[in-house]
Amino acid sequence: MSGKVANGALPNGSGEHEGAEDMDLMDDGQTIHELFDGKIGLTYNDFNILPGYIDFAVHSVDLTTHLTRRIKLKAPLVSSPMDTVTESEMAIAMALHGGIGIIHSNFATVQDQVNEVQKVKRYKQGFISRPQCIKPTDTIRDLMRIKAQFGFTGTPVTDTGNVGGKLLGLVTSRDVDFISEKRWGDLIKDVMVPIEKLITAEEGTTLSHAYETLEKEKKGKLPIVNKKGELTSLIARTDLKKARDFPHSSYDEVGQLRVGAAISTRETSREAVRALVAVGVDVIVIDSSQGASLYQIELLKWIKSEFKESPQIIAGNVVTVAQAKMLIDAGADGIRVGMGSGSICITQEIMAVGRAQGTAVYQVSKYARSRGVPVIADGGIRDVGYITKALSLGASCVMMGGLLAGTTEAPGEYFWGPSGVRLKKYRGMGSLDAMEAHTSSNDRYFQNESDAIKVAQGVTATMRDRGSIHKYVPYLVRGIQHGFQDIGVKDLFTLHANVLNGSVKFERRSPNAQLEGGVHSLHSYDKRLF
Ligand code: GDP
Ligand code: 5GP
Repeated sequence: MSGKVANGALPNGSGEHEGAEDMDLMDDGQTIHELFDGKIGLTYNDFNILPGYIDFAVHSVDLTTHLTRRIKLKAPLVSSPMDTVTESEMAIAMALHGGIGIIHSNFATVQDQVNEVQKVKRYKQGFISRPQCIKPTDTIRDLMRIKAQFGFTGTPVTDTGNVGGKLLGLVTSRDVDFISEKRWGDLIKDVMVPIEKLITAEEGTTLSHAYETLEKEKKGKLPIVNKKGELTSLIARTDLKKARDFPHSSYDEVGQLRVGAAISTRETSREAVRALVAVGVDVIVIDSSQGASLYQIELLKWIKSEFKESPQIIAGNVVTVAQAKMLIDAGADGIRVGMGSGSICITQEIMAVGRAQGTAVYQVSKYARSRGVPVIADGGIRDVGYITKALSLGASCVMMGGLLAGTTEAPGEYFWGPSGVRLKKYRGMGSLDAMEAHTSSNDRYFQNESDAIKVAQGVTATMRDRGSIHKYVPYLVRGIQHGFQDIGVKDLFTLHANVLNGSVKFERRSPNAQLEGGVHSLHSYDKRLF
């Protein structure tokens, strides 16, 4: 991209031009620093990235990135902790496709949120490290309750009813399927497959060896035991297939899907953090619309000092370097950027505070990079091109609410809108609707429960059915790969480096250029995207 070219060396072959002045190729377009050197706030729609040179295939573009200092993801995509966006179903689907979901905290109890995290952790393609167990003296009814709550029946029987207890047998749907409800008071020990007849494997068995055993023995579950005969984990045959279907999934060190959970800045969050860490949450997001607060900084420092191995913490939200510095100084492992840019958000209108998202992401990323902390660009992602733009401004990941809200995996039921369109509800966590539902939404927006006067910072809306995440996220990933290919960079690391060294160029867009860049001059059109 760089170098000098003779002004007159035109592609029409007009040949040598004596005395022609050299033109610096670097004069064409703007570097990122030039783009943002004005004093006006810019957002994604205000600029384009200029194309580079393509000498590689689109599928070879590698989107591996950092979510936090320690956690890497294969896709830079995060679903927002909103009660109409991320519960376990969304988080599982996001992680299977290489991103991550952050479970919201707007539940009636902390345990409800912990259960959602556990569902993600238990859905895995490898060892189930905390399998649901049962005691020999429990009843078939107890097993049915487990089936109703978690959706599976393959349950190890241990003396304590917990993992870590001595393995006594295994009970599966085959053992109880034909037992009529009248006999559900019968004891598990009378229907289970006892330990003498059970195929088990010893701790330390590799996943592939365990799967070979399952295939050879034609069994559905393989309990893993230690030398003392205590249950340490479980392997499910059904997971074998899933592992093959999702080669880029986000796994933790023991092969479980990664998941995050949001907490508020309240004092009671300390109890939530303990419970979330106990079930193996990978990342905690301190969810606040204005992150530079005493509450957040104290909570952040407390988490960092309380745990021997502290969970990764994403702090925020911030939009200025000064805010980011406070949170990084307090120990943040990732910084969430955005104030007032969300689709359902009215913060800038009501509070008069916030920042244009492009400028916020650029400024905070520039600083956070110097401290080795990744930035998550949160809100205002309207389409796949916006993701590529956010990444080009220095973000390592993007967080999305609205873009994922109408999908099958988002919480809530579909309903038919007046014009026959299939819709799902999507609401701001600072909307009166969400704040009235539970308490944590109030905390995000610094509203006290006893405060009779609430000030909404978000709206309640509807989203068109977008189909399943299993189709939508692969589309987003491929769309970003195409964007990178057009820019001429093969991975995110190179994008960030080339943006900083000025070889990836940008250009401001006039209002007319913005119109020109969209669909125009048509009688009607059909916008099918994937
Ligand atoms: P089952 O035959 O009714 O137990 O169900 P499947 O084997 O078809 O599905 C069980 C699924 O749930 C697998 O994907 C497991 O990884 C997952 N799972 C998560 N936690 C647990 C658990 O504690 N026990 C069992 N049995 N499965 C679990
Ligand atoms: P979207 O992807 O829909 O453009 O934006 C989602 C982001 O908006 C969320 O991740 C969160 O940071 C922010 N957000 C969610 N609810 C509200 C709200 O009620 N008010 C404001 N100001 N921001 C919100």
